Amino acid sequence: MDIVKKEIPKQFLDSIPNGIKLIKKGMDTFLVVENLFCPNGHRLMSETIQIHGMPAIKFKISDGFSNGFLFLDAFWGSHAKLYSFIPKHSESLESFDVCCPVCSTSLIVKDRCHEDGCDCTKAVQMNLPGKNRIIACARLGCPGHRIEIKEMPQGISETLSEINFYVESFDDTSDFRGV
Ligand SMILES: [Zn+2]
Ligand SMILES: [Zn+2]
Repeated sequence: MDIVKKEIPKQFLDSIPNGIKLIKKGMDTFLVVENLFCPNGHRLMSETIQIHGMPAIKFKISDGFSNGFLFLDAFWGSHAKLYSFIPKHSESLESFDVCCPVCSTSLIVKDRCHEDGCDCTKAVQMNLPGKNRIIACARLGCPGHRIEIKEMPQGISETLSEINFYVESFDDTSDFRGV
């Protein structure tokens, strides 16, 4: 895994929110999402699909033509993904409804992306344990995502949202450990 990473703020390291953990690989430390939930409390982590050796984040998605499951890399800032089907519109989730794989509740919220060059107005909202949440731009590959941490000063979660580990050459199938 070839990843360029920014430094993680020390104050954040001192109080990692529930649902996120640090993983050491060699000399480097990465943030990995460990637990996410739908609004009804269902866990969004896959039991069977791993990306980069960690359980992937699992969504049910549908664009009216096709539907199936989407698996996202749990490494913070990575955009690696796998599909259980071949979607018609694979570049953006804007045309998809993104749902909990258990109860099919939609996770899409209206949220204007603040990334330069992205005008997406939809985002996928995922709850961390407690009152914290992660909001990711629905345009796949857009780095626009943020973490909202209630019990942490705002400046710190803003810094964290800017951390965007870059996976340079990731073969979507190389770490696929199938069902
Ligand atoms: Zn659910
Ligand atoms: Zn965006």
